[in-house]
Amino acid sequence: MTIRVAVIGALGRMGQAVCAAVSAAPDMELVARLDVGDDVASLAGRADVAVDFTVPAATESNVLALIDAGVHAVVGTTGWTAEALERVRARLDGSATSVLIAPNFALSAVLAMVFASRAAPLFESAEVIELHHPEKVDAPSGTAVHTARAIAAARREAGLGDMPDATTKQLDGARGAVVDGVHVHSIRLRGLVAHEEVVFGNPGEQLTIRTDSFDRSSFMPGVLLAVRRVPGIPGLTVGLDALIEL
Ligand code: NAP
Repeated sequence: MTIRVAVIGALGRMGQAVCAAVSAAPDMELVARLDVGDDVASLAGRADVAVDFTVPAATESNVLALIDAGVHAVVGTTGWTAEALERVRARLDGSATSVLIAPNFALSAVLAMVFASRAAPLFESAEVIELHHPEKVDAPSGTAVHTARAIAAARREAGLGDMPDATTKQLDGARGAVVDGVHVHSIRLRGLVAHEEVVFGNPGEQLTIRTDSFDRSSFMPGVLLAVRRVPGIPGLTVGLDALIEL
């Protein structure tokens, strides 16, 4: 059966790449390209799945409108807060619609996050450095926040306490943002696309896990996988790792 797909943010960098990937997929039909000012509710009955690559300020209201319209959502837009995710969960309560929000659709980034959470209980220290193109509007990246939360959860589960850090005096921001106790540093540099390093330290040794997306094509297999699978996973799913067999 052909999956009818709409793209929201279709004029953007990611949106254009998704439109091309969906058009080239033999089992999908691109039925709508929406951008600023278009009505998401108009997708009711016209699309099975909508893919949202817009801006942090718009994505939550798009997703809530998609749930109300009965259209499954695959969301790549970053900047999601824990409170916004809770609001989506609440709106999905009792609904047959599914939402998948993935801060990163690239296989290398998903694997880096999985490997980081596996390594986290084995090291005293862990910090995250994310590096992106200067047009990116949110910092730190959704991937970095997701990675930091996964590291923190794995450390908590292993009974590890705070990381060693003697800093008592610093310039604002010198130690980065702190996400669940994990320091996250953001670099914005011309020429970059999307990159992340997770550095782990123990006495006398260090492990670096690094992922690089050089091109937006790296995200497309993950987006198409999510479009195919989202109708079968009810409720809210956060992260593509839930769909990848390791
Ligand atoms: P972009 O080029 O700025 O594209 C965003 C598009 O959405 C623009 O055409 C924008 O229009 C449009 N838009 C803004 N508000 C809208 C609304 N209310 N309804 C519909 N469309 C709206 O950005 P991008 O580089 O494609 O990135 C988009 C998002 O994806 C960002 O949050 C980025 O961090 C994220 N991202 C995620 C992944 C992943 O794997 N999950 C990978 C790369 C990027 P205007 O330009 O007129 O505002």
